This record gives sequence, structure tokens and C-alpha cells, in this order.
Amino acid sequence: MIKADLHIHTTYSDDSTVTPKTLVERLSAHPSIKVAALTDHNTIQGYQSTQKLASVYPDILIIPGVEISTLQGDIVVLGAEELPSEPWTVESIVDFAHENGSVSIVAHPYREYGMGDLAKNYKFDAVEVLNGASSPLANKAAQDLAKLMDLPGVAGTDSHSPEDLFTVCTEVQADLDVEEILKALKKGLVKVSALRGSIHF
Ligand SMILES: [Zn+2]
Repeated sequence: MIKADLHIHTTYSDDSTVTPKTLVERLSAHPSIKVAALTDHNTIQGYQSTQKLASVYPDILIIPGVEISTLQGDIVVLGAEELPSEPWTVESIVDFAHENGSVSIVAHPYREYGMGDLAKNYKFDAVEVLNGASSPLANKAAQDLAKLMDLPGVAGTDSHSPEDLFTVCTEVQADLDVEEILKALKKGLVKVSALRGSIHF
């Protein structure tokens, strides 16, 4: 079993102060969370350099990913080492994920830039049911959506600064391997949790 923060913005997103170096150092120092997904806004540029920094630590893992903005709302794609071709529609991104063995996730559905009930119209792989930057009410609504869609629920901090990191996490029944983790996510071999006191859930 591994614990992962599946929603992190680095300085490759223009609204984050988390440098790849800080992320890797914090991940290496963390007692239990050893996996972090990079989900910068509309870019995968940060992966190579972050991966390079992480490669000297055998016990941590970086999952390539991206958070894509669409007119309907944000979508997190995990396992993507390239971007889907534009124009980006919900359908084209979900299809891209299926064709590439990536995982498509409805990001913070009941917050700003979330797609809310519209998500039900698409074949997502998972719903983000615990977002570190969402209100308890918004997270609860996301949980209900996941149940309704019969999809696994995942957690990520949506960190935009170092102090946001690792306050929530997703436990995945998998070893420290990107492919294994992605497969387990799709199968729903996951559990979300929040650090005590860090967030009300
Ligand atoms: Zn985000």
C-alpha cells in the first residue's frame, strides 16, 4: 500500500510557489506519503525536471499528470506524459485518457472551475472527493457524486504553496510503481484520508 497526494501544482503552473526541488525534498522527508502526482495547469513541462530530482531517492515516486481547463470545468489526468491534442473538450480528454492508459478524474466538481453534475455525462475513471482546497460541503457533494456515478474517490491537496502539501492523501493498494498505481485507481483499490486537524471531512 502506498499513500499519495494526487493533485499538486508546481512553479510550472503560474499560480504556484512549490518548486520541484521543494516538492521532492518534502516528499522524501515525509514519514508516510511517498507518491506525488504533478498536476500543473495545462502543461506537463515540469515532469522531466521533477522526475530527475526524484530519481536519486529510491523510496519516492512522481506520477506524471496535468490539470486541464475546459469550458465545463477542470479535469485531472494522471499518467499523462503528453498532452491530448487541442481543442480540449471533456469528451476528447476522457477519450485520450482511455486510449493512453491514463486516469481521468473530475477535479473538485463543486468548486469554482468544477464541472458539477455535468460530470455524469462522461465516462470518467474517478472523482476527486477530497480536495485540500475545497470546503467540507463541496467535498461532501463530490463524495455523493462519486457514489452516484459508481466511481472511485480520490484525494489531492491541490497545493499551490509548500504548506498546502500532503494535508490529505489517497491510500492505494499498489506498490511504488506508476502503472500499478494507475491500474489500482481505476479498480477502486483506494481510500482517502485527511491529516488529523488539517481539514474537516
Ligand atoms: Zn488544481
